[in-house]
Amino acid sequence: MANESLRELTELSARIGSNLDLVQAGGGNTSIKEADTLWVKASGKWLARAAQEDMFLPVPTADIDRQLKAEDEKFPDYRTREGVALRPSVETAVHAVLPQRVIIHVHSVRTIAWAAQANGKEGLTPLLAGLKWSWIPYTHPGIPLAIRIQEEAQKRPDVLILQNHGLVVAGDDCAAAETLLGEVERRLTGSSRSASTPDTERLRRLVDGSEWEIAHAAEAHDLATDIVSCAIAQGGTIFPDQCVYLGPAAAVVEAYETLAEAAQRYQARYNFAPLFLLVAGAGVVTKREMNRAAYELLLCLKRVIERIPTNEPVTYLPADQVARLMNWDAEKYRIAMAKAKN
Ligand SMILES: [Zn+2]
Repeated sequence: MANESLRELTELSARIGSNLDLVQAGGGNTSIKEADTLWVKASGKWLARAAQEDMFLPVPTADIDRQLKAEDEKFPDYRTREGVALRPSVETAVHAVLPQRVIIHVHSVRTIAWAAQANGKEGLTPLLAGLKWSWIPYTHPGIPLAIRIQEEAQKRPDVLILQNHGLVVAGDDCAAAETLLGEVERRLTGSSRSASTPDTERLRRLVDGSEWEIAHAAEAHDLATDIVSCAIAQGGTIFPDQCVYLGPAAAVVEAYETLAEAAQRYQARYNFAPLFLLVAGAGVVTKREMNRAAYELLLCLKRVIERIPTNEPVTYLPADQVARLMNWDAEKYRIAMAKAKN
């Protein structure tokens, strides 16, 4: 393995990993192909820490072919250059089926905002004109998604918009892939709705003596103070990591409810203890023990939703897909790894 290539990939990974508009918690992954080996991020590792932590694994291409043929998502462990045994990213096969040497997969806020609109593909067509891009209908992450992308790979797209999921860009070296990522982000800049300021007095009364606190990040409140965002958020799951980290939909506190009552009502419906509650028109409260990973996903959700235009129909993940994501063994492993450090 040319150390230089891996160093470039590591630097690129740390850069994109520290941008919350691209990568949240352990989401997103990068890879580089070297002869018969795919160097890919380990599952659950945070790209933001790529410069400090050895997180790239050499996976033989033959192993990936075998997993794909067997449609088996349970990859064995591989060792990093420092000898740490880890499981490769759940999206390893996605990286392998694309021919370009460097692959970047991110949960880009701008992309997801388009990829969650019922008319997203049509809306993107003029914006991405001139790029070799493909729209990939929602497919369960991992091996099923890789098989779906394989069908598209002969067209050799450089940009894949994953419906209700995110973005993949491909390039023949790190610089080309990163430049393309920047180009797509620039083209999808768009605009977002602004929201009114939170009603901190009301929030304070609600959280008083409870296990909840007022959300620390000021921007989080927009999800509840903007009525359109609040309605979209409670509608369901827009992208996989939303349900995995935050539950199937946002929980809303009704005017007559205490926070505990709202949380109980949500739990009875979804069999998931909510980590945040939207107090419509007032702001957001979070569980005191909410970890950084969940917090990053909450901010991602807010930034995605504020970019979806008012009255534009939203596509939510079907309930069976949400259930599949939330019970997924590979996903549980990834979350456990992400939590271990947080
Ligand atoms: Zn993903």
